[in-house]
Amino acid sequence: MQYRKDRNGTPLSILGYGCMRFTKKGGGIDVDKAEQELLEAYRAGVNYFDTAYLYPGSEAALGEILERNQLREKVRIATKLPQYLIGSRTALERTFQEELSRLRTDYVDYYLMHHMTDVAMWEKLKNVGIIDWIAEKKRSGAIRNIGFSYHGNTENFLRILEDYDWDFCQIQYNYLDEVAQAGKTGLQAAAKRGVPVMIMEPLRGGKLVNMLPEAAKRAMRESGRGWTAAEWGLRWLYDQPEVTVVLSGMNSVEMVRENCRVAADAQANALTDADRETIERIKRAIREREKVGCTGCRYCMPCPKGVDIPGIFRCYNTMFTESKREGRSQFIQTVGLTREPAFASQCVRCGKCEQHCPQSIPIREKLQEADRALRPLPYKLGVGAVRAFLFRQKGK
Ligand code: SF4
Ligand code: SF4
Repeated sequence: MQYRKDRNGTPLSILGYGCMRFTKKGGGIDVDKAEQELLEAYRAGVNYFDTAYLYPGSEAALGEILERNQLREKVRIATKLPQYLIGSRTALERTFQEELSRLRTDYVDYYLMHHMTDVAMWEKLKNVGIIDWIAEKKRSGAIRNIGFSYHGNTENFLRILEDYDWDFCQIQYNYLDEVAQAGKTGLQAAAKRGVPVMIMEPLRGGKLVNMLPEAAKRAMRESGRGWTAAEWGLRWLYDQPEVTVVLSGMNSVEMVRENCRVAADAQANALTDADRETIERIKRAIREREKVGCTGCRYCMPCPKGVDIPGIFRCYNTMFTESKREGRSQFIQTVGLTREPAFASQCVRCGKCEQHCPQSIPIREKLQEADRALRPLPYKLGVGAVRAFLFRQKGK
């Protein structure tokens, strides 16, 4: 196993254990199976374990396994505050204590504000008193490092990053999402500030392994590397020195072994030009199924009406490269539930964006097409209801 350091110089295994995908059995987690897999990873040197309040049964299973094997002091636990459910300091404290109890510990090594999509979410937490609360927990040692996990657009990521002295952050990042969400821009901005970055969805929830078109598999074969599909995705990440830990939701011993093998071998700045060209071929093969040839360059931004043009096109494309459900789910996360609405329906057809698009995309027309696909009536009503609940105002 190789290690990269956190802000305090603590070595963290470059492979982190994502505890969201523990195998389920009879409606709960198969703790015995999870224990075997977790111990396999621990023995191979994995020392970072990521869970969350909202992953059903996960904190409790992790706490039980660590206690049974007397591993608490030997590993780092990362868990998350369901920040969008927190409306008062009392709720904040109650939730944190519940997490400690589930994890059978009296401190958390890495504590994250879960699933931030918007700077307004951070502002809401500040109004609840989170800054003082964090300071108190860090003073007492109950929280060692504070961070946030993120799914919104790049602009909001940068605003949250710059608004507080974070110890780390966690972003969705993989070779297909290089310009999506926080993206490479966010990764590099965090690294420049000395903020370690943990990576989630390194293989897009397995899609970069299970849903690859034949042309992408051919590109891998023809590279002569002999790397597996997962390995291409993981090596692309480890190649970037700004990446600290790559989280993988492992739920078989074989998967643990494969991931540990790659994490023991892959170096930063090690990919060759030929490797990069293979990854470009893989991406092109995936993108051939896309509906809009948007590269995510953002030259069209900002839209004076706040429309998230590249974000909407990315989700629309995901409906065809992965599945309708996945595209809509990403749309809800990254566009639908930001406090500042960014829907295509806000477009006033001024045409400013089209003057800057190097791909000559008829943006106005394609936005309407994407909106119809991404927001059929039930989704429109559902997103509106959730927005009304979250922001206590009528959603668009
Ligand atoms: S045409 Fe629509 S999307 Fe483009 S800049 Fe104008 S308002 Fe924004
Ligand atoms: S300028 Fe064109 S290609 Fe670039 S992000 Fe905007 S729509 Fe996409």
